[in-house]
Amino acid sequence: MTFPQQLIDGYRAFLISRLRHEQDRYRTLAESGQTPQIMVIGCCDSRVSPEVIFDAGPGALFVVRNVANIIPPYEPDTRAHGVSAALEFGVGALRVKHIVVLGHAQCGGVRAFADDAEPLSPGDFIGNWMKLMTPAAEKIGPRGTLSRSEYLTKLEQANVVNSLENLKTFPRLAKIIEHGHVQVHGAYFGVATGELSVRDDRTGAFAPVAAEDHARLFGSPRF
Ligand SMILES: [Zn+2]
Repeated sequence: MTFPQQLIDGYRAFLISRLRHEQDRYRTLAESGQTPQIMVIGCCDSRVSPEVIFDAGPGALFVVRNVANIIPPYEPDTRAHGVSAALEFGVGALRVKHIVVLGHAQCGGVRAFADDAEPLSPGDFIGNWMKLMTPAAEKIGPRGTLSRSEYLTKLEQANVVNSLENLKTFPRLAKIIEHGHVQVHGAYFGVATGELSVRDDRTGAFAPVAAEDHARLFGSPRF
């Protein structure tokens, strides 16, 4: 077995650049432990690394990634729940102040859900996982006159909202959110455009942030 050369080369680059600049920070974090203020739930997709999008250094973000950035609802059974465990650790132990659900365009998980009419088998882990999106799909209703890409965008954003709503099914977390100790946010990254949108709590709409900077650097958004 050969460890991928790409990773060895990447590690060398890390040694030369980031580690040289951030070594003190790594040492401090090793001694004092991590105290990230922000938890991000993102997708596994290789194009949407939260640390890259938010230019975050070591210790800045507590990140959980899974297919289609889903937070499953509270299920207090005896089975293992990875996202719930991470939430418990992030909120209970690290005391993060913000939870961000980061959705994205061209999400393969969301597309699989929208396309897949096949009956699920017990070994169909993606299919069973994506079933968690059903409330989001029900909420937005049928595709109607929307183009396929418009519908997928709507579903991707509804899926972010569904994850945010599932956060509130965790009784202790719901109280913490209600008291304002933790703020929850929905965000959406356009892979092709590089645009980041954030959900407005009051209107429910996703609106671009730093839009002027984006327009100045990259011109009009391309869809
Ligand atoms: Zn995705």
